[in-house]
Amino acid sequence: MRNKLLERISNSKVKAQEITSDILLLDLGEVNAYLIGDPFADRKDFALVDAGFENSYDLIVAAVERRFGDDTKPNSIILTHGHFDNLGSAISLSEKWDIPVFVHQLELPYITGQKDYQMTDPNKSFPHNSLDINHRVSVLPADGSIPDMPGWKWIHTPGHTEGHICLFREMDRTLIAGDSVLIQEDEFPHDQITEDLMAARDSLLSLKALNPYIIAPSHGKPLRGREAAETLDNLINNIYKI
Ligand SMILES: [Zn+2]
Repeated sequence: MRNKLLERISNSKVKAQEITSDILLLDLGEVNAYLIGDPFADRKDFALVDAGFENSYDLIVAAVERRFGDDTKPNSIILTHGHFDNLGSAISLSEKWDIPVFVHQLELPYITGQKDYQMTDPNKSFPHNSLDINHRVSVLPADGSIPDMPGWKWIHTPGHTEGHICLFREMDRTLIAGDSVLIQEDEFPHDQITEDLMAARDSLLSLKALNPYIIAPSHGKPLRGREAAETLDNLINNIYKI
C-alpha cells in the first residue's frame, strides 16, 4: 500500500507514459523527451531522445532512475534538433553521465552558435545558442544508423530546422517525430516556428511514405493508426494555408 502510494507520488513528479514496452514518453511540461530501451533487459542499454528545457535536468535524471534503476545512465543522447526546448539539459546531462550527444551534421552549427535559427517572420527569432560543447557533440553516422539504438534509423527531415531529424523503427513503424509533425495551435503557428515551409512539406511527404503506425511528437500526445495517418495528411494539405 505504502509502495503504491509512493509510486503515485513520484509518478506525479515525473509525468511519463509508456508508448511501447521499450519507449517511455517523458512529459516535461510543454515538451516531450523519450527514453528508448527495454528496462527489463539484462544489459541496461538505452538512449535519451531530446532533453527538454534547461531546468528539466532533475526530472530527466529521476525518470531514468525510476525506469532503469539507481545509478543507471543512457548510452547516449540523440537530439531531433537544437531548439532550446530540445537541447535544454542535453549538455549538463552529458557532463553528468559522461556520454555523447548526437545531432545531424547540418544542425551542429546552430547548436554551437555559428549559425542562428532563422524564422520565416524576420521580426522573430529563436534564442541564440552559444554553447561550448564541441567536445560533447558528435555527428550522427552517415549511414542512417543511430548509436545505441539498434533497429532504428534517423531520417533527415529539414523544414522546422535545417538539420532536423526523425527517428524511425521499421519493426513496429514507430516514428519519433520531433517538431516535424507539429499540430497547429495558436501558440505554435507554423509560419513562425518553421524555417522552410516547402522543405517541411517535402519532409512530411517522406514521413507519410513510411506509413508510421505510431507518431511520437515533441509536443502533445502520441498518435496511433488512423489518427497518425490523418494528422500527416492534414498537415501536408494545410501547411501553406496558415
Ligand atoms: Zn523546435
